[in-house]
Amino acid sequence: MKAELEKLIDLQKTDSEIRRLKQSLDTADTRRAELEREFEKHAFSIREIQDRQDRLRGERAELDKHISENKTYLERADRNLKHAQNQKEYETAMRETDALQKQIAAFETQTLENMTALEEVEKEIGSRADEISTLDQKRADALAELDAGLEQDRVDLARIEGGRDDVFKTLPANLASVYNRLAQRSRDGIAVAEVVNGSCSACFMALRPQMQMEVKRGEQIITCESCTRILYFAPKDTNAAVASEGQA
Ligand SMILES: [Zn+2]
Repeated sequence: MKAELEKLIDLQKTDSEIRRLKQSLDTADTRRAELEREFEKHAFSIREIQDRQDRLRGERAELDKHISENKTYLERADRNLKHAQNQKEYETAMRETDALQKQIAAFETQTLENMTALEEVEKEIGSRADEISTLDQKRADALAELDAGLEQDRVDLARIEGGRDDVFKTLPANLASVYNRLAQRSRDGIAVAEVVNGSCSACFMALRPQMQMEVKRGEQIITCESCTRILYFAPKDTNAAVASEGQA
């Protein structure tokens, strides 16, 4: 029975790995879309600052143009003022001069506000310079990493699926059908559950001490009284080996 139990444990590990790989491949499009959305969010926020900078620079050029135009008008108005021939001409030129000076002052106030805003934007662009210059590369790297991982998953899946049936074929028919029934019944695909800390690791039901001992002996197939999965007890060193395999 020990050898058959070991086959069942192997089969379970294999099937769980197949499940994990298939799930990884099935969710590839979603994960890729999430990744691209994340980068697009960064790119959008960078574009937004750059647009603000462009807008402020355009606004500044407009203000400079207005100020320079109004200064030209003011010079002309000043000349008119000096050469005024009568009271009426004098008053007209005076009003014009006043209006232009006010207009110029208003544009200069706007220019100051514009300069402050532009300084802030440029400071922000400066502080995010690294992020801005590396964003495209980071996006390409992240997508390449995702693709490489998927390719590895495909290779692993093909290899593991190939070996899986060889193990399955060596199981006695009754155990094979019990395994299939249990695996298909549960949503997590677990038919063979390890006993961890005295409990079934699939349903967390605590095992009676007598049952724990029987599982530990491994001389017969013991099933969980709660979830009916086949139970096994992993010796400590096997656990360590599986754990390090999982990390590799
Ligand atoms: Zn259980």
